[in-house]
Amino acid sequence: MKVLWAPWRMEYILSDQKAEECIFCPGDNRDMDRSRLILQAGDLSMVMMNRFPYINGHLLVAPVRHVRELASLSQDERADLLTMVTRSVEILKKVMNPEGFNVGMNLGKVAGAGVEAHMHFHIVPRWNGDNNYMTVLGEVRVIPEHIEETYHRLLPYFKEVNILDGGEE
Ligand SMILES: [Zn+2]
Repeated sequence: MKVLWAPWRMEYILSDQKAEECIFCPGDNRDMDRSRLILQAGDLSMVMMNRFPYINGHLLVAPVRHVRELASLSQDERADLLTMVTRSVEILKKVMNPEGFNVGMNLGKVAGAGVEAHMHFHIVPRWNGDNNYMTVLGEVRVIPEHIEETYHRLLPYFKEVNILDGGEE
């Protein structure tokens, strides 16, 4: 798949990030939330923008712990992860007005997992007609808004604690 107008991609290629590095595990870069496109990092789970999105607003939600299997998560981690998925969906609804979502996981390489060793949810907002548009263009993804712009639009909402009805404080 080709990506149209993707200046961030060049930044990524030019950065010396090693292919085997886990994108969800900070290593020494704990403070570099912005450069990693992290929208929220809790004790148990985190949300980041997908650097190679299927569509604008494509988010990734992962546990903080580097685990491959759903079964390796504790009950608390599982609950926190689902809360984070819910928050992400609600925030995307507010900010980007999508008409639907694809929310799911690719477990294992054969299922399309890019980062196989650290499980994560994909949250892909959908709009009527986005599919037709992409079909017309074949294997080309169109990202109409620069990923950093979307990041800065979403970020303030992730800082609100009570984004879900009933709050979670
Ligand atoms: Zn990891």
